[in-house]
Amino acid sequence: MEIFDITRKNLESALLDNGFAKFRATQITQWIYQKRVFSFDEMSNISKDDRAKLAELFTITPMQPEEVFTSSDGTQKLAFKLSDGNVVETVIIPEETRCTLCVSTQAGCPLHCAFCRTGSLGFKRDLTVSEITGQVLAAQIEAEKSGKRITNLVFMGMGEPLLNFENLLDAIDILLDDFCFNFSNRKITVSTSGIADKIVELGEKTKVNLAVSLHAVTDEKRNKIMPINKKYPLSALLRAIDSYPVTRKMVVLEYVMLKNFNDTPEDAEKLAKIAKRYDSKVNLIPFNTFDGAAFEPTPIKKIIDFQNILIAKNVTALIRKSRGGDKLAACGQLGRVKN
Ligand code: SAH
Ligand code: SF4
Repeated sequence: MEIFDITRKNLESALLDNGFAKFRATQITQWIYQKRVFSFDEMSNISKDDRAKLAELFTITPMQPEEVFTSSDGTQKLAFKLSDGNVVETVIIPEETRCTLCVSTQAGCPLHCAFCRTGSLGFKRDLTVSEITGQVLAAQIEAEKSGKRITNLVFMGMGEPLLNFENLLDAIDILLDDFCFNFSNRKITVSTSGIADKIVELGEKTKVNLAVSLHAVTDEKRNKIMPINKKYPLSALLRAIDSYPVTRKMVVLEYVMLKNFNDTPEDAEKLAKIAKRYDSKVNLIPFNTFDGAAFEPTPIKKIIDFQNILIAKNVTALIRKSRGGDKLAACGQLGRVKN
């Protein structure tokens, strides 16, 4: 069994089944996640015999980035080659007061949003729990090399997190666990393209923040760029967000600005109305282009006009600074390429 694939609770049961005391689980997770010791032999508070027995039961395989690209703005993209040859990417985004890590949950993505490079590459497979948390551990180690500490996690890398739901939940459990990564709920955000029933379940089972990739304010337009909207139309999506617990009502709405498609004043008015329903902050995302993209970015002046309409309606609207574009590390650009 791979130790990075199981939560501390499941490790406890596995240990009990094999004649170990329950508390060993906590010792082991502290060694691997907090002291970064990846061999049972070095776990000095466990007897030699027990260490040998543990090594027969479990493997400890931390993920190693195959390549690290550093962008001129300090953004770093880590590319991992998985055991079956698939490649996933993680992006470290240093900012003034925090350092955010953008984590992937699938190799590729099955949802084919028209503006997303990851979607255009197709779906390979779900990531395992260890492949999700492994990105975080490897990024922590990489960030520390330049004196940084990862403070925030966003599930906005490759893939749709809510379509890899069980593994996402276990990964979040490990990320929050005091004896593993010890992140706080407030520092973790799951971004979804709008899998309505799973949004409801996420709200019931976790306390993490929610970001919704809205991108269009009518079904007609949303159907054109996000095929998932045919399964979960706007009405279903908005109802699901209604159910997200009140304490976390600061749901973020993401809105990628596509020239002459979703950037009119009428779009802004409708978006303001939706944002007010949840007291949501809106993130306006300049479209990051890629070879073969079917859209063009809205010019910055027009993005600012759009933002001003939202602000005039008392909606907090920020324009997201695009980071890492020169290394294809920006939103929607992830996917295997040499650069
Ligand atoms: N699948 C999830 C999370 C990963 S995508 C989701 O869709 O929310 C992370 C964010 O990047 C989403 O808001 C997505 O819509 C946005 N994005 C995708 N392609 C983009 C592009 N080419 N330019 C800018 N943002 C993009
Ligand atoms: Fe998948 Fe998100 Fe890209 Fe859509 S935007 S294809 S859901 S990764």
